[in-house]
Amino acid sequence: MGGNRDLCPVPGLYFHIPFCHKACTYCDFHFSTSLRTKEPVLAAMRKELTTRIGELQGHALASIYFGGGTPSLLSPQELGGLMNDARLLSPLALDAEITLEANPDDITSEKLAAWRSIGITRVSLGIQSFREERLRWMNRSHTATQSHRAIELVANAGLRSWTIDLIYGLPGMALAEWDEQLSIALGHGMPHLSAYCLTVEKRTALHKQVSTGRISLPNDGQQAEQFQHLIQRMEQAGLVQYEISNFGREGHFAKHNTSYWQGVPYLGIGPSAHSFNGVQRRWNVANNVRYADGVEQGTMYWEEETLTENQRINERVLTGLRTLWGVELAPLGEAFRKANQAVIQRYLALDELEVRDGRLLLTQKGKNFADRIASDLFMPAP
Ligand code: SF4
Repeated sequence: MGGNRDLCPVPGLYFHIPFCHKACTYCDFHFSTSLRTKEPVLAAMRKELTTRIGELQGHALASIYFGGGTPSLLSPQELGGLMNDARLLSPLALDAEITLEANPDDITSEKLAAWRSIGITRVSLGIQSFREERLRWMNRSHTATQSHRAIELVANAGLRSWTIDLIYGLPGMALAEWDEQLSIALGHGMPHLSAYCLTVEKRTALHKQVSTGRISLPNDGQQAEQFQHLIQRMEQAGLVQYEISNFGREGHFAKHNTSYWQGVPYLGIGPSAHSFNGVQRRWNVANNVRYADGVEQGTMYWEEETLTENQRINERVLTGLRTLWGVELAPLGEAFRKANQAVIQRYLALDELEVRDGRLLLTQKGKNFADRIASDLFMPAP
């Protein structure tokens, strides 16, 4: 098992690049398929970073993450501009992890070399499926052939690490198809995998298809079976499930995402980006024009809330329980222990929770019910 070696105690920086080639059927992230606002948004992001870097209080950055949206559609010069600013404004840990999310159709060996030269250490490839008909249904901008080629290029680019995303629980997906997808992925020798069950978000094309009855998704039992199969295949292949949806070989756990799950502060730059300083949560407006204008004119382009003690505890439980390290009980306090004694005992008896070294952890069985167990442990809102 991975132990605590990959835990990340220092803050991270997130850049949200709000542009995509196409709108994927299931996606509710903030993005635009028009590049019309690219210049003002990037200029505003550089200004926002300069204005807000003090919030990190001089701590060295453990990780930088370019997410979105599709960061790989920016030119290396545009990405390099953001990287240079980050480097000039903040010290960077020696072993900082710098991740770029990329779509397979954007990958070339020239781009990979350019990304490495600006400091990218890790590429996260949005593969989702290796089947052409699935990619067409998802309205992805890439083909399966491009995925295979992109993975080969990324694997041989000399990066410190790389990862792919896959989706299960697709309409009509049988276990055999999911097994085939995992075999193909493992055949490429990836050191890290993020695998997500398809979820129906409002205001997506998928929501419309499901609500009008045009498609139906696998039921809970089938989804659980695919999840268990995923766990089994990854375990056999030597990838550790260090978070419910994330599997990695030793030394390849994602530092940036792990810091979110551990409640470490992070600074989020760009439209819709979230930030957390340990006490307050802040989120930028999910609109490119309003964001760029707000930054430029110095008007409010964000909302924020101060978390209550109980909200902070609930977040630690929700995110911590999903990880290999679980959640440390002592910092949750006496009130949490008293309020949840009976609930914890019940889940211990059901073999869905365990207590080890002062930490509360999900068992293999409990991983199927992570969200329900976490919400049963929630402290009441004030
Ligand atoms: S590429 Fe990613 S962010 Fe863009 S629409 Fe598709 S899933 Fe959403």
